[in-house]
Amino acid sequence: MTHTACYRGRFAPTPSGPLHFGSLVAALGSFLDARAAGGEWRVRIEDIDPPRCPPGTDTTILRQLDAFGLEWDGAVVWQSARGDAYQAALERLIDQGLAYPCSCSRKQWQAHAIYPGWCRDGLCEPGKPIAWRLRSDLGRRPVIWHDRLFGEQCFDPAELGDVVLKRKDGLWAYQLAVVVDDAEQRISDVVRGVDLLDNTPWQGQLQTALGYPELRYLHLPLVMSTEGQKLSKQNLAPALESEPNAIARQLFQAIATLDQAPPAELEGAPPAEQLAWAVANWRVERITPAQERPLPAAPRESS
Ligand code: GLU
Repeated sequence: MTHTACYRGRFAPTPSGPLHFGSLVAALGSFLDARAAGGEWRVRIEDIDPPRCPPGTDTTILRQLDAFGLEWDGAVVWQSARGDAYQAALERLIDQGLAYPCSCSRKQWQAHAIYPGWCRDGLCEPGKPIAWRLRSDLGRRPVIWHDRLFGEQCFDPAELGDVVLKRKDGLWAYQLAVVVDDAEQRISDVVRGVDLLDNTPWQGQLQTALGYPELRYLHLPLVMSTEGQKLSKQNLAPALESEPNAIARQLFQAIATLDQAPPAELEGAPPAEQLAWAVANWRVERITPAQERPLPAAPRESS
């Protein structure tokens, strides 16, 4: 690691449910990369969609991070309190002609792979509720960056479509909120699941439009369920187990899932000891750049 002086990472969970093994791997990868670089590690709660975020889940997540020894720096940021900053960013995009109101419903354009941009030159149906969309055709194109695991990436955001920045119901969309907060928190490095790799082009376009610095990216393999689905709160991935032996086991499995080859004697050691080993031995080069990882088996009940 050479970027010690200016490294600031973050873990940015959506509190739609407690952390599961897949989110532990993402949190751990981001934590280890930051600590191995001598950098800071922040936590940001991405609670911009209240209907999806049951009350108290943020606290549960912070408690889980704490139990796994993943100590963060500085104050936790809640996106639900950051609406003014997102509005200011949206207004700057509107002033540049890079955001426009859209009255179309998904049903109207369902025959198209992406939203065809019908409202770009004026609302199709004035008077109806509006969302705000990004002019993906007018910003930085293509967006090219080097992912630290998956290598050179090149996407044309216009082929991905005019992503929503603010929804019709007034809620902020992830793409805008994440870009504004990463910039305002002076994040230098994003380490997260590879499911967000193809969101990065929109984020790169927004960073350029808003005059924010570019970030370094490390996308991590996703943990798949035994049915071959990405572990997610939507498909009811089981929450992490919280009993001390289970914490030690899951942490060891997460270090192993990141291909760091922890020595067998580390299994069962307290989190602080496992993390100290993992920080000292963190090598991104060890991670196989495959998109998926199997879920480690739970221990068999001894009879
Ligand atoms: N909040 C997003 C999630 O939980 C992650 C955002 C990010 O790391 O950029 O999937």
